[in-house]
Amino acid sequence: MRSSASTARAGSIGRRTARARGGGRSARARASPGTSKRVRELRDEGAYAVGDAARALERRGRRVVRLEIGQPQFETPENVCEAGVGAIERGETRYSAPAGTAALREAVRGYVARTRGVTYDVDEVIVGPGAKPGLFLPALAIVDEGDEVVYPDPGFPTYAAMVSTAGGTRVPVALTNDGSSFDMDALERAVNEKTKMIVINSPGNPTGGVMPRADVERVAALAKKFNCWVLSDEIYSRLRYDDDGNGASESDDGLEDIFSIAALDGMKERTILVDGFSKTYCMTGWRLGWMCCPKALAERIRLLTVHSVGCVAPFTQAAGVEALTGPQDSVRAMREEYRARRDYLVDALNAIPGIRCPKPQGAFYVFPEFTYDCTAKELADYLLEDAGVALLPGTDFGVRGEKHLRLSYVGSMDDLREAVALMTTSLRRKFPASFD
Ligand code: PMP
Repeated sequence: MRSSASTARAGSIGRRTARARGGGRSARARASPGTSKRVRELRDEGAYAVGDAARALERRGRRVVRLEIGQPQFETPENVCEAGVGAIERGETRYSAPAGTAALREAVRGYVARTRGVTYDVDEVIVGPGAKPGLFLPALAIVDEGDEVVYPDPGFPTYAAMVSTAGGTRVPVALTNDGSSFDMDALERAVNEKTKMIVINSPGNPTGGVMPRADVERVAALAKKFNCWVLSDEIYSRLRYDDDGNGASESDDGLEDIFSIAALDGMKERTILVDGFSKTYCMTGWRLGWMCCPKALAERIRLLTVHSVGCVAPFTQAAGVEALTGPQDSVRAMREEYRARRDYLVDALNAIPGIRCPKPQGAFYVFPEFTYDCTAKELADYLLEDAGVALLPGTDFGVRGEKHLRLSYVGSMDDLREAVALMTTSLRRKFPASFD
């Protein structure tokens, strides 16, 4: 029998249906049971919603310049595809070990040692379907009800989602005006005894900012002082364009030295280092990523993998081994192309009255600020409808993006030139006073 409490929970739709049909019990049985509080807090990733709207316009015959998604338009390198196909042909199509194949975990271990100078054991490496599980599963494994998690605002939407799903308290912390780092005073105020984890993302989405080394060192000092974890999302680590003092120089093996917080004294034991293949090797659809963390945590994350996704396809992992250990020329070529696009786009946006665009040092996004009298959502909607340019409102990344837009420069140079021309025309029409 149903209790009166569960009747009350049945919700207004159930009650309306029951009244309309003149009977409570059978109508209630037809209404779906409710969902958990933790998933009711989830919001979508803006890129998917804007992508749907852009596709709807394209279906009606409109040309839309697509700058909304963080998905490389280059092909997955041929040697990587061949390794995946070869594995399928060899029959590597069954379940693999939940933490990843021995070959890929060993390859990740070597890659991290080479690029970050941090040496992990193989059982401190966990492979997953994308970098996203490297965010979500550690949050589930670390955060208890009431624990606070500090993360960047604006920041990648999964950070807020993983914290609320884990039952933790979200503590978004503002970035500096140029988007390169936390506002360090705000960060110092935000971290306290209740903080269980600090999320950093450098180079970052949506700003493209690269944290100065001194700020990373301050994050490490805070994490040690308050004994909390640091989740370091390094998915854009190979996409840095300037000599930023973080050791971006390359050597003969085509790999660069990457400065990671995990390399700082006393940090390996409290860091979850996350990276993946989507951006560096143009493998978004393959679904492959990895994380490195201390053994006891890695074992909990392995168990979450066992009971959620099971494992990653072994042929995908074979492609991953080739990506990490094979030639890196495609990464260098892609980085040069992105650098040229960034340089063009930043200058072109700064030439539009009412827009100010800092020059980011990494990733493939710009996050300009606008002065027009409207919200970010109104401006993004207007530019899609009027100019046929798909981009994201800054508010998709947190409340502090209310006067910003995010544009991704994964499209061709021609696309970027077209987008800037279309935006300028539409903005001049709508906000003539800014153009006087
Ligand atoms: N972290 C950041 C900051 C990202 O921008 C993305 C992808 N947009 C991810 C993680 C997830 O990447 P993956 O495709 O490897 O799951």
